[in-house]
Amino acid sequence: MPLVIQKFGGTSVADPDRIREVADHVARTVRRGNQVVVVVSAMGKETDELIRLATEVSDVRPGREMDMLITAGERKAMALLCMALHSVGVPADSFTGSQAGFITDTNHTNAKIVELRPDRLRKAIEAGRVPVIGGAQGVSTDHDVTFLGRGGSDTTAVAVCHALEGEFCELYTDVPGVFTADPRLVPKARRMAKVSFEELLEMTATGCPKPAMRSVEYARRWGVKLHVRSAFTWEPGTWVVEEDPTMEQAIVSAVTHDTSEAKVTVSGVPDRPGIAARLFRELADVDVNVDMIVQNVSDRGVTDISFTVPRNDLPLATQVCQRLAADIGATGVSSDSAIARVSIIGAGMKSNPGVAAKMFEVLAGEGINIEMISTSAIRISCVVREDEVERAVQSLHTAFELDAVA
Ligand code: ASP
Ligand code: MG
Repeated sequence: MPLVIQKFGGTSVADPDRIREVADHVARTVRRGNQVVVVVSAMGKETDELIRLATEVSDVRPGREMDMLITAGERKAMALLCMALHSVGVPADSFTGSQAGFITDTNHTNAKIVELRPDRLRKAIEAGRVPVIGGAQGVSTDHDVTFLGRGGSDTTAVAVCHALEGEFCELYTDVPGVFTADPRLVPKARRMAKVSFEELLEMTATGCPKPAMRSVEYARRWGVKLHVRSAFTWEPGTWVVEEDPTMEQAIVSAVTHDTSEAKVTVSGVPDRPGIAARLFRELADVDVNVDMIVQNVSDRGVTDISFTVPRNDLPLATQVCQRLAADIGATGVSSDSAIARVSIIGAGMKSNPGVAAKMFEVLAGEGINIEMISTSAIRISCVVREDEVERAVQSLHTAFELDAVA
């Protein structure tokens, strides 16, 4: 019997009606002759709500207690979903991350899976039962409850699919799949029937919110087939698969945008070995995750270095740079959070010249100034003013012929 993994996000199980609808869908899948393992997120916005509660109660929030608190959300959802499954005649058992065999490191609030021992899941399946696993959780090597971080339920589902050698992993959400651009910005964005792991990774790294990037990395590494689809329409969604080398690849498959970053510029930096190393080491040591980095050609032995960081990290990053500026002999530090990044992604750009030129021409045609540029083999990103990003995404989507035909 084929084994499939079905993961349901928070909106899919937001209230009793939704939970019953999800149970019906699981029951139908079982009746069609599949073995099913379910992974469930916390109901609706419960994770946010629990985090908010914690901040209201105390300024002291040890990771161990945060994890105990947050994982309660999934625990609630999995028990309720099991009850709904029982009432439609599907024998089901809930499992916490620990019961499901997820062993993690001790890095609370963002734990990594070190091992998965799915013996109990296997036994339940053999007994003809549907295991329902609380997503994003595990037990640490120190025997404490851990949380895998925001969006961690996707990773739980992919890991289970790999460990149990499932056929594929379905990620049910509130949108019908992965789109060529954010449909809220681009009404003519299309659902992609298929996308490669490589392209989707670049997309999630540059603003596409779902699925969680970590789960896509995990799926690519182990060749777990993903199907991103809607728990509201139940229609087929987007398949995430290995690139097919015999097929011609689209030059541009998607346009993404990200308004969550800010830019820091350190100016008048002496152009000598070791300066950049020192600057970025200090940022790394305080856990600031630096993204795009641009260094100018030096003029009379000094240069400017600009980079982007998550907006939340901007105060810390600026502080580190200011402290260091005098030390390394830089003349100034400035920051700017009204920026956005627009990216085009496509596996076919590897072998096609002129893609960057066309992107810059489209932006120029809109009178949009480019502040930073970075590329990978299958992506080109430009930093622009935040208030121009919507126009940038729309015009690129049209220019690269991604618009849906009416
Ligand atoms: N409920 C958790 C979150 O919102 C885990 C998940 O849904 O993946 O981050
Ligand atoms: Mg969620």
